[in-house]
Amino acid sequence: MMKLLQKQQEFFKSQQTKEVSFRKKALKKLREEITNREDAICDAIYADFKKPKFESMAAETQFVLAELNYIIKKLNIWSKPEKVSGSLLNFPSSDWIYKEPYGTVLIVAPWNYPFQLAIAPLIGAIAAGNTAIIKPSEITPNTSKIIFEIITAVFKKEYVAVVEGGVEVSKELLAQKWDYIFFTGSTRVGKIFYESAAKHLTPITLELGGKNPCIVDETAATKLSAKRIVWGKFLNAGQTCIATDYILVHKDVKERLINSLKKSIEEFYGKNIEESKDYARTVNSSHFNTLQQMLVGQEIIFGGYSNENDNYLSPTLVNEPKLDSKLMEGEIFGPILPIISYSTESDIDKYLMNYGKPLAVYVFSKNKKFKEKIIDSYSFGGGAINDTVIQITNKRLPFGGVGKSGIGAYHGKTSFNIFSHQKAIIKRVNWLDIPLRYPPYSLPKKIVKKIKHLF
Ligand code: NAD
Repeated sequence: MMKLLQKQQEFFKSQQTKEVSFRKKALKKLREEITNREDAICDAIYADFKKPKFESMAAETQFVLAELNYIIKKLNIWSKPEKVSGSLLNFPSSDWIYKEPYGTVLIVAPWNYPFQLAIAPLIGAIAAGNTAIIKPSEITPNTSKIIFEIITAVFKKEYVAVVEGGVEVSKELLAQKWDYIFFTGSTRVGKIFYESAAKHLTPITLELGGKNPCIVDETAATKLSAKRIVWGKFLNAGQTCIATDYILVHKDVKERLINSLKKSIEEFYGKNIEESKDYARTVNSSHFNTLQQMLVGQEIIFGGYSNENDNYLSPTLVNEPKLDSKLMEGEIFGPILPIISYSTESDIDKYLMNYGKPLAVYVFSKNKKFKEKIIDSYSFGGGAINDTVIQITNKRLPFGGVGKSGIGAYHGKTSFNIFSHQKAIIKRVNWLDIPLRYPPYSLPKKIVKKIKHLF
């Protein structure tokens, strides 16, 4: 492992990754390999937890290909030194921001979007001119293997490499000195990464989880709201970092919303959901059991069916869970949707303030003032009004958390920027040298007090 990192450090020093044409060639090769193996990638993800093929294509392979297309197209412009206006103090000068790669990057990925969350950060790292080592999740071994195969086929390992393995391998990687770390996963493990990065003062992006509320007020279009909530929640069997974790619904529309939620679930997945090809499984028995524990003592008003042989848990609605129950302790990350009613806005406040800053907040409402108030009053990663999850699909929007849900953001230009150091350079000329700044200082105080206008 040490050797691999050393090789990457040496390769970075060779300056080859500084050439934009080199980076673009690398990204194009990656795009070609992913395009050619798209079916095999989706099959691997299916083998891991029966993620429906449509979901794998839309949210993993096509998502990553869109990112590749966009970044390849824009890279020439983004990577050019950026000129800024000079200040009078330095007149005459030309002033620049150079985009400099950090060096060797470590990317550690989770299992829920096992392909996308390993490759999307890599695209940014390559675009910015870094070398990279990816550690995919051990919990999705088929996807981990195909990521290894793809990267090995496209890149020399001194440029981009994959190290497969679990927590021990991850710890070993983390103990090395990196130039940048990009971690996606739980808040618990995110803290371990932050602490380790601090030892070497390594800059780090943390893409973490959270307990995402979805607020439905009394003006919401309940039928359409239900459809969009159900889609975003039960996609990937609820194992999406930005899925709705719990619904806060105004008491006057609660019954209507619940009826619509039930109808939408049946419309999407049929009466026998276990047979539906469009519904994924929970990732393994350990996660399945955690979810079962969350249901103990709860009032299940829809679903709750399971099959432990297949880690199957049906879309499940829970009525008014207690705040101190297991279900409401932390992130659910599965197909269980608690529904909590509220009467006043201060009830909403109580819930939203209880869990730290979430990765996403959703609001279903026709009340403009209310929608803007939620956006303005609370801090959270991002979100949507009258929809869920779709904020991740616009490559022009940064994606990331805040506070407990993460540090930093990526996607599109933001990805290029986070993997680049912004190097400030002022270029001077020799034909003019105003001597006023040199000792012995002789400017009268009255004039010195005006220097602020020259910066
Ligand atoms: P996790 O934190 O358990 O694992 C993530 C990665 O860290 C894995 O590769 C794992 O091998 C490694 N790891 C685990 N324990 C470690 C340790 N003690 N030391 C070093 N490395 C360790 O997360 P997970 O279960 O794979 O993923 C689910 C979590 O990820 C959820 O909380 C979810 O919200 C979050 N998530 C966030 C985003 C986002 O973009 N913000 C996206 C997907 C998932």
